[in-house]
Amino acid sequence: MQFLTLIISNHTAIIHRIMKLSCPLTFSILSAYCRRRSGLLLHKSESVKQIHGGQKYTPASVVFHTSNPDKETPHISNAPDLPIVHHDGYESYLPPGHRFQMRKFNKLRDVLLHDGVISKKQMSSPVHVTKDELIRVHTEEYIEKFFEGKTSAKEQRVTGFTWSEGLVSRCRYETGGTILAAELALGRGLVCNTGGGTHHAFPEHGAGFCLLNDMAVAASLMVHRGKVDRVLIIDLDVHQGDGTALIFQEDPSVFTLSVHCGKNYPLKKQQSDLDVSVDRGTGDDDYMRIIQDHIPSVLTNFRPGLVFFDAGVDPHKDDALGYLELTDQGLFRRDYWVINEVIQRGIPCVTVIGGGYDKDIDRLAARHSIVHRAAKKVRFGKKGDYDVTSVLDSGTAIDLYQNIFSSSK
Ligand SMILES: [Zn+2]
Repeated sequence: MQFLTLIISNHTAIIHRIMKLSCPLTFSILSAYCRRRSGLLLHKSESVKQIHGGQKYTPASVVFHTSNPDKETPHISNAPDLPIVHHDGYESYLPPGHRFQMRKFNKLRDVLLHDGVISKKQMSSPVHVTKDELIRVHTEEYIEKFFEGKTSAKEQRVTGFTWSEGLVSRCRYETGGTILAAELALGRGLVCNTGGGTHHAFPEHGAGFCLLNDMAVAASLMVHRGKVDRVLIIDLDVHQGDGTALIFQEDPSVFTLSVHCGKNYPLKKQQSDLDVSVDRGTGDDDYMRIIQDHIPSVLTNFRPGLVFFDAGVDPHKDDALGYLELTDQGLFRRDYWVINEVIQRGIPCVTVIGGGYDKDIDRLAARHSIVHRAAKKVRFGKKGDYDVTSVLDSGTAIDLYQNIFSSSK
């Protein structure tokens, strides 16, 4: 065994990758053994290869909900197909002109209902994530500071938000939403959140408009509760999922896959289990080739029991923070292909909306609705019950978002 430990220490990168993909249980046992025997830490990071170059607002000091959010109970839709998780409390007050479009969450719900992509019957609503749930991945000290408004001015600057009770409430609903979506997905297959994807949140601090790491908390909880053995996080937001990568660096039960624009925030990248760095200016076809080159093998080899898909729309050509050149059709192709690839294999899938930055709130909300349209097409399209493009062709969405899917008609 000592000989084995020596070999592992000399070839950690290759062995780690092979073991994690081929036999997660053995990997876990070996990792624990090596740590005990020699203090050696098998970092997943060492295995990584870079592959390619209705809005009513209150001031911040006023609590957003008149009722006590902690006494709420979740509302669970009875609709068996494609549950949509949303809470009006995903929003909180931000000063006018803030780069983060806080109103996009309820706008997105309005677009989805208006265009008939979803019906109210499909909607479920979460409750606040609890402190005990959050400290699966965050430190207790950070959560207490964040809940009680004791984060420093510097810490708040890094997040892009000034602390408020409303902000805490909003983040707790959003993370609660991703947890609820995961629980529903394990029974019903495919579930879409209208928020989530706060992947820059680290165990001890927030960053880049992310305060609580919703996917990490939900993934960790599903494993901890014995619902699944392995979770895959497919993060296609244009920015690297650095917080998520760090959180699971030494956890063999969660595989982190991030496809992102290399020359973009965050400046200091963390190491996911698989990082795919995409060049600035990459367009639809090249982007599709890149994700199709990488995602299937991870699904096949890691064999997750649950997938989280961060469908950030900031790779869009008109996004203020993206630098990629994906079109509306490109995002739809991406989302449809990813969800179909997961669902086809019988793996439950949760989608979260991730990042998106556009001064035009209507365009942004419609852009975020692409993943829900793709999910609906995956779920119903093949039966001929529903074709997302026919709804758009009928004129309802086209009034709002002229170019969407125009070339795929
Ligand atoms: Zn982003």
